[in-house]
Amino acid sequence: MPFNFTAGRPCLDLVRTVKARRHDAVEGLVVPDDLARWIAGSGIAAGLSIGPLDARSLLAAREMREAIYELVVARLESRMPNPGAVGIVNERAASAPPQPRLAAPACRNATLQADDPLAAVLSMVARDAIDLVTSPAIARVRECADAGCTALFLDLSRPGARRWCAMNTCGNQAKLRTYRTRRAAAGTELERRKT
Ligand SMILES: [Zn+2]
Repeated sequence: MPFNFTAGRPCLDLVRTVKARRHDAVEGLVVPDDLARWIAGSGIAAGLSIGPLDARSLLAAREMREAIYELVVARLESRMPNPGAVGIVNERAASAPPQPRLAAPACRNATLQADDPLAAVLSMVARDAIDLVTSPAIARVRECADAGCTALFLDLSRPGARRWCAMNTCGNQAKLRTYRTRRAAAGTELERRKT
């Protein structure tokens, strides 16, 4: 499945690799290569060579993703998060993130390096999640109102009343459904008058 990177935060983009969580959840990280595609698409560690990923890498990423989802949803539901989820995110964040290194001799750009590239990338995402749930931005996290989507996203609009993750997809579908329902209701009303 193609990944979506518009949630507004890398940790929410990762959470979104499971589609329709509250409806008919679809796993987007099925094989290790999906994880490699997600990391490349996210651009969070551009230039870092990730190397081959295996089934364990995939499980580690999925486990952390679910822990992040639990942390964020717990905040949205004003309840305590599962301590196991907190432990997982803290553990991942404890790994060293990628280190920038100046490309000598011109030093006009830098490359990223890490002893354990996957641990470094997961650490970046875990740190992003910790930053999100401990900052005022958490009050701007919403769940898409489309029942077939329910993606988490950061609402950066000024009024802060966004209902859908994207107006050109979920928002339009919702409006179309409302329009069709109204038109169908109007049609029924006409039929009733004729008889
Ligand atoms: Zn949506």
